[in-house]
Amino acid sequence: MASTTARSQNAIDWLVKESQEYENPEDFVTSLAAQIKDSSPPLHNLKYAIGALRTACEVHLKNQTGESISNRCDFCGKSSDDVHTMIVSNKSALCDECAVAALHTISHTKGQWYLRLAFFAFRVIASLGRLFHREST
Ligand SMILES: [Zn+2]
Repeated sequence: MASTTARSQNAIDWLVKESQEYENPEDFVTSLAAQIKDSSPPLHNLKYAIGALRTACEVHLKNQTGESISNRCDFCGKSSDDVHTMIVSNKSALCDECAVAALHTISHTKGQWYLRLAFFAFRVIASLGRLFHREST
């Protein structure tokens, strides 16, 4: 337990030190993402790891400042400005893209053929809706 805490502290120290090398926080996140992407064994859920990291930082900052920096999706880390809809509850947020990804995953679980069919219909109607929306704007 103590060694896990020490390891976390080392990782946090490294992150803080490394982050000071960058003027723009997004550049640091991009560089970090590239380093994780090239790591071996590869980390498949990279965007979720980055999202979790962003969320952890924001929760930490929120505790320090007493206010929220921004609403970011707890799964992918995108801000509410970057997505169409953000579903926000007391302590967490979910963007529309991750909600659709969750529906896709649920529809592909074993024995859920009717959800797969429903998701297919949803995707067709959503695609038509996007086309229509683009033409009308
Ligand atoms: Zn998301």
